[in-house]
Amino acid sequence: MNDATRRGLAELSLSFERRYGATPLLFRAPGRVNLIGEHTDYNDGFVLPAALDLATFVAIAPRTDRLIKVHSANLDRSFTFDLDVAQERRRDWSDYVRGVAVELGATGHRLPGADIAIWSTLPMGSGLSASAALEVAVGYALMSVAGEPIDRLELAKASQSAENAFVGMRCGIMDQYISCHGIEGCALLLDCRSLEATPIRIDSRARIVVANTMVHHQLAGSAYNERRLDCEQAVAILYKAIDGVAALRDIDTAQLEMHAHLLPGRIARRARHVVTENARTLEMAAALEAGALETSGRLMNASHASLRDDYEVSCPELDLMVDLARGAPGAYGARMTGGGFGGCVVSLVEATAAESFAARVAPAYEKETGLAPVIFSCFPAAGAGSVAI
Ligand code: ADP
Ligand code: MG
Repeated sequence: MNDATRRGLAELSLSFERRYGATPLLFRAPGRVNLIGEHTDYNDGFVLPAALDLATFVAIAPRTDRLIKVHSANLDRSFTFDLDVAQERRRDWSDYVRGVAVELGATGHRLPGADIAIWSTLPMGSGLSASAALEVAVGYALMSVAGEPIDRLELAKASQSAENAFVGMRCGIMDQYISCHGIEGCALLLDCRSLEATPIRIDSRARIVVANTMVHHQLAGSAYNERRLDCEQAVAILYKAIDGVAALRDIDTAQLEMHAHLLPGRIARRARHVVTENARTLEMAAALEAGALETSGRLMNASHASLRDDYEVSCPELDLMVDLARGAPGAYGARMTGGGFGGCVVSLVEATAAESFAARVAPAYEKETGLAPVIFSCFPAAGAGSVAI
């Protein structure tokens, strides 16, 4: 944790005491950057995310009644709800918080009322999964004050359900899983069907650099759910032609080529992205393990092309940032990361060139777009837990 975060946490704790008159316990849950394997999680496929040192922090103290009082320092907004009153979607940030409490309650946990203050060092809506960090941090904190042992997989699933059912975003398990299970210094190769994860250590000769385009196109939420429907349509057609197809994960590139004529054009392109992306993700995990950084970079570049052309979830700002990133000295490869339509680009960069990378890319991006991007190197962090200051 850096000094600025430590100071922010001390401020969170103080403001909690002023607001609620009690000393809080503190918890954190990280955001994430996905190195490769985009839009594959909800197809039972493979992903390769790393938890970030940027995180959402929750200060919490139990109450004697059944109320949950919540304040977000980032938004300077508050709300209160009653654990004994049925909750409905409100289409605002409270959905993430109320959703997690409801989902944990539905899995049989008796949560106490609580006072909560939230503060995050993650940018919101930038594809670094501030939403999952919020869900997981709140869930972890509530389970802790309930005095219940925390099953990380169960917490990840309850958080995903909260986003699916309450927010109406049909996200896969990746974001919540990595926020719960991150390992310092490693990305995780996650099989989203078996939920088995293999830690992949990031080579010390390389840095993961994130560049925020500072745009977030409104399309993101609706387009995400549309892509899921396209994938479901592909499976509905292909399972009649190929034995044992329950998800796009079950098809390899040769099988898809053989049966692509059965699919309408758009659906065929969506399926091709998912099928080739699964293969690239497995290849990149192997390449990173073998220290093959050039190969890793090439796979990231191919992933971006597939997301742009076949899955159609990129945008001009992401394409520009990717081009600039690849042109920087020491860059192995770059791609959009997260759902798309804005947000961040992730690059794999030679460690010695990571500093000059931002100095090279940021002015060029600003010159073209008029937007000042935020660019930073990240060190993979551990998953959710308690924090001491
Ligand atoms: P991402 O997960 O990529 O950051 P989302 O649109 O999925 O983007 O989630 C962002 C939303 O999550 C915000 O618009 C807000 O509703 C909620 N959120 C995230 N962090 C916070 C926070 N610290 N305080 C209040 N709301 C938050
Ligand atoms: Mg999100």
